[in-house]
Amino acid sequence: MKISVTDIPQSGLSLAEDIPAQAMDVERPDIHYAAPVHVAVHAARDLNTVCLRIAVRGSFQGECARCLEEVTFPVGKEFETVLPVKGTRVIDIAELVRDELVLDYPARILCRQDCRGICPECGRNRNTAVCRCQSG
Ligand SMILES: [Zn+2]
Ligand SMILES: [Zn+2]
Repeated sequence: MKISVTDIPQSGLSLAEDIPAQAMDVERPDIHYAAPVHVAVHAARDLNTVCLRIAVRGSFQGECARCLEEVTFPVGKEFETVLPVKGTRVIDIAELVRDELVLDYPARILCRQDCRGICPECGRNRNTAVCRCQSG
């Protein structure tokens, strides 16, 4: 998803597109997207600057670092970027979106803060099963 600065009319330009996560390179070994990310852009231009308002909607899945359950995280973000017209010819929207999305990723995926993880003894998910290994 790219916009040429010269294509932005006086009245502004609105675009919306579903971008596959693979095309944006927003996945991580522990983070993946099951569906494309919806990106809506409104671009406005004056003599010196291009102002972009970008709204992103979607969700990604991650594997809990402790219990390995899959967790879904909704993505809903709106941000604004101002770029100089001078020196900018083509704006790569996907790149701007990627930078914003990656910023919000948790350092470590957890299904919940107090996830009890998997028992190293018996392999049970301690969130959902009772095991007696610890009481030993
Ligand atoms: Zn967990
Ligand atoms: Zn156990």
